[in-house]
Amino acid sequence: MLIRTSCRQESFADSIFSVRSPEVLTSEFRARSLKVTPQRQLLFRLLHGHTGHPTAEALYAEASAQMPGISLRTVYQTLNDLVSMGELSSLQFAGSSTRFDPNVDDHHHARCDECGELRDVYVDHFDSLLVSGFAGFTPERASIVFGGVCADCG
Ligand SMILES: [Zn+2]
Ligand SMILES: [Zn+2]
Repeated sequence: MLIRTSCRQESFADSIFSVRSPEVLTSEFRARSLKVTPQRQLLFRLLHGHTGHPTAEALYAEASAQMPGISLRTVYQTLNDLVSMGELSSLQFAGSSTRFDPNVDDHHHARCDECGELRDVYVDHFDSLLVSGFAGFTPERASIVFGGVCADCG
């Protein structure tokens, strides 16, 4: 079987693959008749260029520091809208809060069993993995999570 992965090599000069710019997200939201408030624009700015995998609570703390009064509900709603638009991905791990991933490049993750730190890893030749057992199933996406221990916890 073949898993298609998109190639964004052409924009490698940027080297950071983050969510699109606040300006682009603003027009995408407007195109979908979604409200664009100053609170949402602040979240667009925080996510653009974010290099971690924040939880909604962590983004809420960052946003509150700049705009006291922003609600956690607004943060959740904005993140969920971005996920359903394909501008952001969400990652779930058993027993911990959803992590939001502003890196929209094709990548995989290494997660520390001790502290939950999540780092981006790239897998060469991912599209030529030999997988068996797909009879009667159409795979649409796949990702690898390497479990282990980070340098701080090791
Ligand atoms: Zn760790
Ligand atoms: Zn990631």
